[in-house]
Amino acid sequence: MSNEQCFSKTLVPGPQSPVPIFLVDGVGRNIDYLRVSVTDRCNLRCLYCMPNEGVGWIPHEDVLRYEEILKICRVLAGLGIKSVRVTGGEPLLRRELAVFISELKAVKGITKVGLTTNGVLLGEQLEVLWKAGLDAVNISINTMDREKFMRLTRIESAVNVISVIDQALEMGFEVKVNTVMIRGFNEEEITAIAGLAKTRNIAARFIELMPLGEAASFKPFYAHEAAALIEGTYGTLLPVSAKLGNGPAVYYAIAGFAGHIGFISPMSRRFCETCNKLRLTASGFLKLCLCGDKGIDLRGLVRGGASDEEINGLIREQLALKPAGHRFDESVGAENGGAAFGGSVNMFRIGG
Ligand code: SAM
Ligand code: SF4
Repeated sequence: MSNEQCFSKTLVPGPQSPVPIFLVDGVGRNIDYLRVSVTDRCNLRCLYCMPNEGVGWIPHEDVLRYEEILKICRVLAGLGIKSVRVTGGEPLLRRELAVFISELKAVKGITKVGLTTNGVLLGEQLEVLWKAGLDAVNISINTMDREKFMRLTRIESAVNVISVIDQALEMGFEVKVNTVMIRGFNEEEITAIAGLAKTRNIAARFIELMPLGEAASFKPFYAHEAAALIEGTYGTLLPVSAKLGNGPAVYYAIAGFAGHIGFISPMSRRFCETCNKLRLTASGFLKLCLCGDKGIDLRGLVRGGASDEEINGLIREQLALKPAGHRFDESVGAENGGAAFGGSVNMFRIGG
């Protein structure tokens, strides 16, 4: 395919041409959502995400500086990215994150900025993040039991994440709770975690574990199993037709609940046909899909002095290569460490 053909497919003028612009990939999906990892470092060591030792961190000089991320985000916003989620590793470990978030919010075309965090450092930074204009926080809670938390994360923490959620809600943040379901570890807590949405206007979301890196030696617990547990305790899950988020979660209401229940089912329900996402790793690689190694080394381009137009052109050209779907179901599992899509690549490195 020539570049010209490719461009006409990837950049489609909206109804009031030339703005808004929609970025469309090779199979017609509208790409408007970016995950940005600002670090691969973490203050926890979740068993399913990170090895305890020998992690092999990205050298500091290879991590994108904030101004480099912002340059990339400006180009992407010009192409149609509207919503950005900042993640890691643990993003709150990176210095001056709130300053970066305020600059990100100021990028023309970006209408929403969220943060995904394990919550340990969130309480002390909530105020400065609110002032920076952060819109939403996704907080990971895989267990509410202190001893199990220690076993899972290999770290002791006295932080009461539930009270941090309440503070965040009080300030006005949109709050989601993310629970990765691990068979034999936390299925007994699913109903209690879902129950957090009874009196709080939050989305409690249950995520099927994907067999990436360390996670390949754990077994997923599936969304339909979680749904049955939740319905058994709280009553019928009622489908919600309104769009509640930017991602692949499917949301439900429960009579008498202030919040919602969500399921993210990469294993049992392939949602690739609606994927609207790109990922920028901390080292500046623009990943087209969670699976595989397709993408662009934007750090090399930015540091090599590429103009915005050159970066723009390359992204549009490469977008045609965004895979139509992931391959978790093809020979991926404990026996091969996820070899079908890059072996030992853990989520902390990709930016979950
Ligand atoms: N440290 C932050 C946190 O834990 O929320 C942000 C980064 S973490 C990589 C982002 C999310 O990815 C977390 O909710 C984490 O539980 C999830 N995650 C990590 N490995 C995963 C896997 N193999 N399958 C599904 N979710 C995973
Ligand atoms: Fe750190 Fe998040 Fe990975 Fe846990 S899931 S090790 S908190 S990056």
